[in-house]
Amino acid sequence: MSQDRSPFDIAIEQFDNAVRYLDIEPGIADVLRQPKREVTVALPVRMDDGSLRVFTGYRVQHSVAMGPSKGGIRYHPNVTLDEVKALAMWMTWKCAVADLPFGGAKGGIICDPKTMSRDELERLTRRFTAEIAPVIGPMVDVPAPDVNTDAQTMAWIMDTYSAHAGNEQLAVVTGKPLGVGGSRGREEATGRGVMITAMEALRARRMDLTGVTVAVQGFGNVGSVSARLLQEAGATVVAVSDSCGGIYCPSGLDISDVLRHKAESGSVVGYPGTDSITNGEVLEVPCQVLVPAALEKVITGRNVDRIQAEVIVEGANGPTTPDADRVLFDRGVTVVPDILANSGGVTVSYFEWVQNLQAFYWSEEEVNARLRDYVTRAYREVQAVAEAKGVDMRVAAYIKAISRVVQAVTLRGV
Ligand code: NAD
Repeated sequence: MSQDRSPFDIAIEQFDNAVRYLDIEPGIADVLRQPKREVTVALPVRMDDGSLRVFTGYRVQHSVAMGPSKGGIRYHPNVTLDEVKALAMWMTWKCAVADLPFGGAKGGIICDPKTMSRDELERLTRRFTAEIAPVIGPMVDVPAPDVNTDAQTMAWIMDTYSAHAGNEQLAVVTGKPLGVGGSRGREEATGRGVMITAMEALRARRMDLTGVTVAVQGFGNVGSVSARLLQEAGATVVAVSDSCGGIYCPSGLDISDVLRHKAESGSVVGYPGTDSITNGEVLEVPCQVLVPAALEKVITGRNVDRIQAEVIVEGANGPTTPDADRVLFDRGVTVVPDILANSGGVTVSYFEWVQNLQAFYWSEEEVNARLRDYVTRAYREVQAVAEAKGVDMRVAAYIKAISRVVQAVTLRGV
């Protein structure tokens, strides 16, 4: 698949790849090839210098067959409607494979948050919320953080939506700060899901994490938490990287100390006693488990032959291209696909929504135990499909997800 394909084209191809294994009425497949609703809004915002700027925002709801739609809001200069549509469709499959009672959605604003003040971002967020308020809600569509949005952004959305509704609506967004209805365990949830799926993938190969060597690309929320939890579970993390480059130490890194080094110096690079390597080399070091947790399209036809890992757990969204996927499958490498490997985040978002609706809050131990149940069950269901149909875990995850959504669409009727 060429690098210049649009994200929505890729999403459709992935859907069609799985649909050929399913006996679906063509009309129902057509329903799922398109988003249910696309909203584009113009957002006038008074800037700190007194000027007025108009931003463009989107909210796309792909499917609500399984329940209210769910998906993050991204602030980035490169946001396009096409990308938001693809991300919304991927959320439908991610929620379905995790068996959450949600459909898929995504939102975005074309802006460069790195050049905007906190006040400007707050005004932009509140205006966006007011404009999409008619199409979101705890039982309608529930946003969450994504690239360049965080718990504070979610608190502003919740506050603005509640002010418009005239009453408290904590469950309108997830990923909120703990003080206003956030869930314990949410920050670690995606990395914890990566750790659990890595364990499951190894279990299927009659291995466990003890002494297994791991490399992690990306040392942000997903990458650093995955690295730390994998190490705590007994693995030896031999390489990590961030946008400045990577570090390699065959005898293993102390991840807590690397985190401290990054907090002090701004990067993992320069950590004492390690070799400096590039971000590309992190993927190719000798290791048994590889966790790409930074960017999309990093494992491609160009580098796949140099990748040594037996198990690849996709913390990031879309790190492996389809041509590389085929090579890895033929070589017997287990690739745990993004919609399964990083579903821990949306699973704990679901728990946050449940806690908000019940106004009853769980301990971190309860959150983590339930997360483990959900992710383990999802993994084993996908693995059973992969074995039964002789397909890779990605196609199997899509088959499982699409079957669930199609069943819901069919039961509801048109
Ligand atoms: P983040 O911003 O916290 O971390 C990203 C990391 O990638 C940083 O360490 C950054 O330095 C590094 N990076 C940036 N450019 C790089 C490059 N060229 N090479 C190597 N590293 C580079 O983001 P995150 O929340 O950890 O998200 C990472 C990926 O996981 C994204 O694909 C995201 O969509 C996906 N994801 C995140 C969550 C979540 O809950 N945070 C959930 C599902 C999927």
